[in-house]
Amino acid sequence: MLTEKLYYKDQYMKEFTAKVLSCSSRQDGNYGVILDRTAFYPEGGGQPGDTGTLSGSDVLDTVEEGGEIVHICSSSCDAGSEVSGSIDWDRRFDHMQQHTGEHIISGMICSELHCDNVGFHMGSDTVTIDYNAPADLETILEIEKKANTYIMEDHPAHIFFPDSCELKSLHYRSKKELEGDVRIVSFPGADMCACCGTHLSSSSQVGLVKVTGVKKFHEGVRIDLLCGKRAVDYLMACWRQNSAIGRELSSPFDATYSAVVRVVEQTERLKERLSLLEDENYSLTASGYAGAGDVCIIKEAMETDSIRRLCEAVYSVCGGYCAVFSGKENSYRYSLMAPDDRLQEICRSINSALCGKGGGRNGLAQGSVSADESSIRRFFNI
Ligand SMILES: [Zn+2]
Repeated sequence: MLTEKLYYKDQYMKEFTAKVLSCSSRQDGNYGVILDRTAFYPEGGGQPGDTGTLSGSDVLDTVEEGGEIVHICSSSCDAGSEVSGSIDWDRRFDHMQQHTGEHIISGMICSELHCDNVGFHMGSDTVTIDYNAPADLETILEIEKKANTYIMEDHPAHIFFPDSCELKSLHYRSKKELEGDVRIVSFPGADMCACCGTHLSSSSQVGLVKVTGVKKFHEGVRIDLLCGKRAVDYLMACWRQNSAIGRELSSPFDATYSAVVRVVEQTERLKERLSLLEDENYSLTASGYAGAGDVCIIKEAMETDSIRRLCEAVYSVCGGYCAVFSGKENSYRYSLMAPDDRLQEICRSINSALCGKGGGRNGLAQGSVSADESSIRRFFNI
């Protein structure tokens, strides 16, 4: 049973009719349907299989098994009957945009960096491609710019099956050693690659390519790529983010980065100033506990670091241990400072009486308790 591959005759065919050659049930409860001809592309060359419908049945996936194109269907079809197929076109067109965009940018990267494409994964969110040569972000962005220029110039795809003589003379990319008829997909000036997938008929239909990630991968580089509508949606989301940041910081659209840097620097200065003021405040508070012996202080909404610093200030003058609690409702954090020989014992009794956890050494313990303010007050008799 050899199925006629309509997707190679016309990659834009969305609907077709065909005869059911066989239908068999599968272990997972679905049915494997083989047709005399199909426009459903089976998973291969890194491109996922098509989905859609065959008459009343959902096509959940299309795969190649033992040389046959098998439509994985949710319900059975009668062998010998005629069915009408309909491809989930938005999904397939997205695959063609990703696949074609990947060809153009990979062709350019491999020729400029003198390397091979050693990995390719077309996910539902992003396309990941690995190359066996290192490259930095700026180099990749330069190539991205060239790829987008090429895309705009609207170059037609040239897809052909060369004879073995011609094939030997061609310089093309291939992920593996190929036998038999080799299908060459060429975008002249950008890429020539042996590939079995479905591609757009011209570069302009890719619309746009956008690299969203560049990182070291083994000895080479891995890039994340978005093409076509995915790239447009991504840039739209980036624009929305940037606009919102600009509005919030009263900054023009193209100056949001420096506005954010200013805010970060300002925050750092304010933190330093706040820290100085807190230290002054803690010294003043501590002076009220001079010689007071064992002390417990409960305060609202303090950072962990501030709790510790207040505890240190009071402990240095009180002459006993010092515990500082901060939090609300049933959740408080604490710092405890005590002479080394008392620290563990006090810490254990706090944790056991107030459902707490935490510990420490060298005179300082820190932790949290699941208890409210009145329970803490009862425990410390304050
Ligand atoms: Zn391809």
